[in-house]
Amino acid sequence: MPETDAATGPGARHLLQDYLERLCSELRGLSAGEVATYIPELGRADPEGFGIALAMVDGTLAAAGDAAEEVTIQSVSKPFMYGAALEALGREAVMARVGVEPTGERFNAILLDEENNRPFNPMVNAGAIAVSALLSDGSPAEDELRMQGLFSDLAGRPLEIDLTVFGSEKETGHRNRAIAWLMLNSGMIEGDPDAVLDLYFKQCSVLADCRDLAVMAATLANGGANPLTGRQVYSAPVAQDILSVMATCGMYDYAGQWIFDVGLPAKSGVSGMLCAVVPGQFGLAVWSPRLDAVGNSVRGIEACRRIAADFGLHAFAPHLDPGAVIRREYSSAEVASCRERPQADCALLEREGAALRVIELQGPLYFASAEKAVRRAGALAERGGTLVLDFHHAGSIDRAAAALLGQLPAALAGRGCQLCVTGLGPRHESSGLARQLEEAPAGHVTRPAGIAEAIEAHEEALIARAQPPREARLARLSGAALFAGAAPADLAALERMAVRLSFAPGERIIARGDTARAVFVLAAGQVDISAVAPDGTARRVSAVGPGQSFGEMALLEDAPRASHADAAGAAECYAFPAAALRELLAARPALAAAVYANLSRSLAARLRQANRQIIALD
Ligand code: GLN
Repeated sequence: MPETDAATGPGARHLLQDYLERLCSELRGLSAGEVATYIPELGRADPEGFGIALAMVDGTLAAAGDAAEEVTIQSVSKPFMYGAALEALGREAVMARVGVEPTGERFNAILLDEENNRPFNPMVNAGAIAVSALLSDGSPAEDELRMQGLFSDLAGRPLEIDLTVFGSEKETGHRNRAIAWLMLNSGMIEGDPDAVLDLYFKQCSVLADCRDLAVMAATLANGGANPLTGRQVYSAPVAQDILSVMATCGMYDYAGQWIFDVGLPAKSGVSGMLCAVVPGQFGLAVWSPRLDAVGNSVRGIEACRRIAADFGLHAFAPHLDPGAVIRREYSSAEVASCRERPQADCALLEREGAALRVIELQGPLYFASAEKAVRRAGALAERGGTLVLDFHHAGSIDRAAAALLGQLPAALAGRGCQLCVTGLGPRHESSGLARQLEEAPAGHVTRPAGIAEAIEAHEEALIARAQPPREARLARLSGAALFAGAAPADLAALERMAVRLSFAPGERIIARGDTARAVFVLAAGQVDISAVAPDGTARRVSAVGPGQSFGEMALLEDAPRASHADAAGAAECYAFPAAALRELLAARPALAAAVYANLSRSLAARLRQANRQIIALD
């Protein structure tokens, strides 16, 4: 078993370890209750024995006290055998032989549901014996092997059977024998009752320690997959069925009070073992042999009660806050794409940009949080335009959420709103949402690479709709934004100085850290500017088109290049040697005034945009 877990870190584990150890030493003071002696071998247990273990669904374990002490699991075997029967025979066949109604009677009551000709539930002896009958094929050796295999799969290690306890119970278990024969009499079980009882006594005699039992419980918490081995011991629906019956019947005639107080599916056994499950989170096991009058471990009950109260684990307490599902919302008027655009285009986008709205989702998506998300999306869709729903920060997407979200494309299309979905990643794969979106009718939903791409495409479409296409190529230098307002003689001087350069797609024009030797004006193509994060990853922060310049900071300062500039496709540039350009500007004050004014205007526009973005993304 893993001693540390890299995913959660030893810190988290030790914290729980300390908590469990504190709890253990506090509850050791409880000395009420008696060790069970009706099975003589059980009477030999140390009444002071006390262990607690907790297994998270990722396999992290914390344990305290005598958690490594192996004892027989007794009735704790019942839910696990019940699951094996459900798995092997299906619900209907199992329900025909054992019900799911609590009895309110003692675990070993000779009590049968005569109306339905079956025991009331699989957590009391009668029901468990009926389940063993379903799993027995009449050959004790093979029954034993299969049963032992089941519990070993559940614990994630080979478990043994305590043959002394088995013998002791076989010898003295007349009451269980009476129950078996009674059920044989009324046709509730078939086959050889002795073979069935052998299997039942053996499953009760499986040896496990608290850590094993915590892993077994965590397997139920984990949809039937053992968190240590990954083995799918039960299908998820069977794991759910097991937990349902544990919740209603697992604590015998204390079941009602238990679910009221502690609120967790659980199962106890007369050896003093007890396991409880927090579905989706962890399994808990406690062992302490002193039992109360009902047959439940006194310290075991108290430990579970304390843990449930300390951490607010009651299954019916509200654990989730669907209100937090919307991380933030903004429009493309607030957050523009990083593409540098002529002033006229910027003005147009500021006027019309609000037609694209972004909703960034966060946290787990389940029925209530997804409902809030689709409700908000529906409200925004009333304005038409484009809606980007971003899942980049969204956690898991469950079945209910996928069902609700899957209806969005058609619902929004019906309101004249185009849906773009971004940020769905591998961790959302199992939800099937991506597949549902693929199956949506053409035009109902698009899947851009990210929010930035969605905004950029939206801007392009707006601009294309509003005005005739721009020249894809800068015909003359007078069209360059940096030189707007320059006199013809100055432009001629600039033409003479310019060096024409061509770059292949993907070619690096400027590398971060280079000495800044030139200012570039792009004549054709696109150049991407990327900033470099401290971890070395480059991120596109700007895209420059024909008529725009890059590397122009060389005019203002003598610092190394701050970003990369790469040709996005084939690119053609005018390059102006920085030193010569500075000299030219010094010699021609009117040109200098125009160039610096143009430069300031573009920097001011970028700053305004950055400020808007900071506010929108706050
Ligand atoms: N083997 C025990 C019996 O049948 C199991 C009962 C229990 O743990 N409650 O008596």
